[in-house]
Amino acid sequence: MKEELYCSFCDKEAVINLKPFRVNLCSEHFSQHLTNRVKRTLLKYKLVKEREKVLVAISGGKDSATLLHIMHKLSNELNFEVYGLHLNIGVKDFSEKSEDAAVSLFKALGIKYKVVNVREFFGLSIPEISKKVKKPICSTCGLIKRYIMNYVALYSNFNKIATGHNLDDIFSYIVKSFLVQDKEQLSRISVFTPTFDKLISRIKPLAEISENETLTYATLNKLPVAQVSCPFKNKFGLELKIKYSFIDPDYKYYPIKLNLVRTYSKLSLASRENDTLRCKYCGIPTSSEVCSFCKLLLNLNLDPVSFHKAFQGYASFET
Ligand SMILES: [Zn+2]
Ligand SMILES: [Zn+2]
Repeated sequence: MKEELYCSFCDKEAVINLKPFRVNLCSEHFSQHLTNRVKRTLLKYKLVKEREKVLVAISGGKDSATLLHIMHKLSNELNFEVYGLHLNIGVKDFSEKSEDAAVSLFKALGIKYKVVNVREFFGLSIPEISKKVKKPICSTCGLIKRYIMNYVALYSNFNKIATGHNLDDIFSYIVKSFLVQDKEQLSRISVFTPTFDKLISRIKPLAEISENETLTYATLNKLPVAQVSCPFKNKFGLELKIKYSFIDPDYKYYPIKLNLVRTYSKLSLASRENDTLRCKYCGIPTSSEVCSFCKLLLNLNLDPVSFHKAFQGYASFET
């Protein structure tokens, strides 16, 4: 017969056994525990300062939902402001469900938000764009997401952009970059990237939270999460292979992952040494005359100047 576990802090039944912390926790105490750990990460890495405006990027998945829920709780205590951003990439079914989940969460928490629909600006979905410019879907999607997030933050005067990358994401990214010897990527992996000119600071408040924990948190708090995964996700890619090889409900690898992420975050130069130039269309730091995003616009026969003008008005939050 399975022995019932009780919470280490009250007489309720435990829902999770967190070995590295030597505690069993009920639903309520687990949520409290995770919130405290995120708070420690915010303070330890100095991710947010008082009165700052933080733009939280929400995908519709469990990680960013957990991030927004916790950041919203901590915003009162630590005195910063939280806003939401969702990017609709125009993939049928997947994007509709993801946007629904993101918007439900913004509304449930009463958070000011913005949904940017890629189709509205490009007249095309991300898969269609990638086909037109003959580049892989995932890298096109990553590039567009990165730049759009930055432009929204830049044009609306945000201090930080927060993303939902968890410990397992960052760990597998470091290991992958090491295996393929991508030194450029390795040097940029960090829990905190400071603002550099028109590139707004990036923060990863869930850097010390495992994927199993974000899933548990989202489930226990009944957060709206889209039950779909992107149809273009490369399930056989190296990064996911690494992630799945190190999944451990027993937290055996947790200290190793934590150490690696902490070490790399310290080592990371997060430097923009190569970005000595400024894009002649949008002005952000870049290593060539035109940034990757404006190059993409030119490839699509779109005029970068009018694109940015239109986007500037569209991206601003009424705050
Ligand atoms: Zn309890
Ligand atoms: Zn540009």
